[in-house]
Amino acid sequence: MRKEGRLIRWVWWILLVTALFLLGFIIGWFAKPSHTNKEDHKASNEYLREFLDEMQADRIREHLRKFTRLPHLAGTEQNLKYAEQIKEEWQEFGLDSVEMVPYDVLLSYPNKSQPNYISIVDQLGTEVFVTSLAEPVPQGYEDVTDIVPPFSAFSAKGQPEGDLVYVNYGRTEDFVQLQREMGINVTGKIVIVRYGKIFRGNKVKNAMLAGAKGVIMFSDPADYWATGVQPYPDGWNLPGGGAQRGNVLNLNGAGDPLTPGYPAKEYTYRFSMEEGVGLPDIPVHPIGFNDAIHLLKNMGGQIPPNNWKGALNVSYRIGPGFTDDIKSQKVRMNIYSNNQITRIYNVIGKIRGALEPDRYVILGGHRDAWVFGGIDPMSGAAVIHEAVRSAGLLLGKGWRPRRSIIFASWDAEEFGLLGSTEWAEDNARLLQQRAVAYINADSAIEGMYTLRVDCTPSLHTLVYDLTKQIASPEEGEEGISLYESWHKRDNWTNDRDAPRISKLGSGSDFEAYFIRLGIAAGRARYTKDMKTERYSSYPVYHSVYETFEIVEQFYDPSFRRLRAVAQVRGGLTVLLANSQLLPLDANEYADALGKYAQSIAQLAAKNPDEMVKYEVSFDSLFSAVQNFTVAARDFHERLKTLNRDDPLQVRLVNDQLMYLERAFIDPLGLPGRPFYRHVIFAPSSHNKYAGESFPGIYDALFDIQNSADPKKAWQEVKRQISIAAFTVHAAAMTLTPPA
Ligand code: GLU
Ligand code: ASP
Ligand code: CA
Ligand code: ZN
Ligand code: ZN
Repeated sequence: MRKEGRLIRWVWWILLVTALFLLGFIIGWFAKPSHTNKEDHKASNEYLREFLDEMQADRIREHLRKFTRLPHLAGTEQNLKYAEQIKEEWQEFGLDSVEMVPYDVLLSYPNKSQPNYISIVDQLGTEVFVTSLAEPVPQGYEDVTDIVPPFSAFSAKGQPEGDLVYVNYGRTEDFVQLQREMGINVTGKIVIVRYGKIFRGNKVKNAMLAGAKGVIMFSDPADYWATGVQPYPDGWNLPGGGAQRGNVLNLNGAGDPLTPGYPAKEYTYRFSMEEGVGLPDIPVHPIGFNDAIHLLKNMGGQIPPNNWKGALNVSYRIGPGFTDDIKSQKVRMNIYSNNQITRIYNVIGKIRGALEPDRYVILGGHRDAWVFGGIDPMSGAAVIHEAVRSAGLLLGKGWRPRRSIIFASWDAEEFGLLGSTEWAEDNARLLQQRAVAYINADSAIEGMYTLRVDCTPSLHTLVYDLTKQIASPEEGEEGISLYESWHKRDNWTNDRDAPRISKLGSGSDFEAYFIRLGIAAGRARYTKDMKTERYSSYPVYHSVYETFEIVEQFYDPSFRRLRAVAQVRGGLTVLLANSQLLPLDANEYADALGKYAQSIAQLAAKNPDEMVKYEVSFDSLFSAVQNFTVAARDFHERLKTLNRDDPLQVRLVNDQLMYLERAFIDPLGLPGRPFYRHVIFAPSSHNKYAGESFPGIYDALFDIQNSADPKKAWQEVKRQISIAAFTVHAAAMTLTPPA
């Protein structure tokens, strides 16, 4: 009995040990990190594929058709109606929540009973010429009411009268040339500038600083006319009667002019109109080239330099004033527009993240349009709409992204990025703690050639990886990826053999997220061939001719280009929300910082004597960039051996990646621009659309050769170098092991 019992115990023991061993083996097998990761990756990639494939060209066409039937200017009833419709459809698509978020901000409209125009008056005060009061309305839209005539939003009211001076594009260098080389003073004059090259608000600022009492902006065919293309509706060129609307503010990131820093709610304190941020104090008005010919053709004064000549059959003489025989005729601006506090509405839709609901990826773009918004912004809004529909469909199949996704339909972008900036102010605390990335969705197309991407350096790698998984939308490129199609059309040339990616500037809704809050950001759209197509933006930009039909007939008849853009914008959003490790690349930031440091040091080196005299050195900046480069390389090395099964370890490195962009924020902001706080990137002080790297140093160096107080100017350069060096070093520290 005892012997048998012992045997049974032995058998039990052996069985137990074997079972435990097997169990351990099975657990070990399933828990093996590489296996789990592959499974995880595969699962998330399958959903990515499904998400991308679900987006359809014909759906995008339908969305665009639906949201471009009527004008929907910010602050109008129609723009609220579209907001309500978007809210309802996003709910039907299956988002977890959708809300309407209103703000009361300063907008600007022409006076309905007293139209704006420009006239030429003779010595008796009789108007001998007047500019048109509206653009000829395109066929099929004759019965549409509420088309706002071309105007410059936030222009001052007034009837200034005087001589004209032509100042080319109204850029800083144009005014320098006018004043220093041609010796012309525009004090008390009305300047006429052509649209293009830079943001119109900078033109107005330059004119004001030069002492002008009014600004006329015109679209020259040299800048808004593609060769061999007919004017709309027979082609996509700007007709002579078309003109570019647009705000002429200099907000420097402030948002609503009356509530800088705080959300424009009912209870919010408001500055008076006189105290408002960025409002011009002179009248401004836009015209088309049919009208411009009449103002330019009789101008007298100096013959312009060749590169000031546009494509109109006039001399482009500088002035001031008309030729001797009609010297007594003057130009009068008649501007009656009003600034008005008006309610605007953002639509905010959310998907709650499954594992990290407190991490946000934002896909946002504006809804308000100057008129129909066929290209700007509804080609972008249609793309977001389709991304929401596709994401909703996946949710219905049981998918839920790791992190939360926020979709935004911004209002009043055209009036100074107001809806997006007010929401950023409203949610600043949440966003600075929780936002992973912001993807912008303004106009999805501005040409028919290839992809254009502007983004923070840490997104470069993700953009390349994703575009390799998207098909080229071009006819005859079946089987070729978007990456290859883009690469062969726009190589980064001397920098590297890859498709070109540019710095972010501004002029669209990512500004507050990237430059004020330090959230990694990017934008992507289809664009023209920059090598051969000289015109600015696209010919019908901000005119009544931005219709659904111009997209359908000329820009993207198959809607495949818009689909590709939807896949890029949506794919970036989904990958940022769903990847276990954030797909942000600190090594790319290191490379970019190296290039920017080189180029700003080279700019300073144009003043070798002063560099010696004032002991200016970039050593501290180069050393900080070196620290950053080492920290980034080591960081990504460590990621390779990270235990991805330890959620705390994963969260720890993801936080380092998320907060990397935040580390470049200086809470004090750039000199004179408190809401531009990113030390590496800011909109150029001379052109809001362009991005400037190391903007603090750049601005300190600008025109330093002509400084009235060189010693003080070079002290400021040194101060800015030290701020840049400190900031880059501090950012590097955030990438080192926490202990
Ligand atoms: N995107 C609009 C424009 O270019 C607004 C830009 C802005 O105010 O920054 O006119
Ligand atoms: N279309 C312009 C851009 O994306 C912005 C705008 O005018 O809305 O730069
Ligand atoms: Ca505000
Ligand atoms: Zn836009
Ligand atoms: Zn616009």
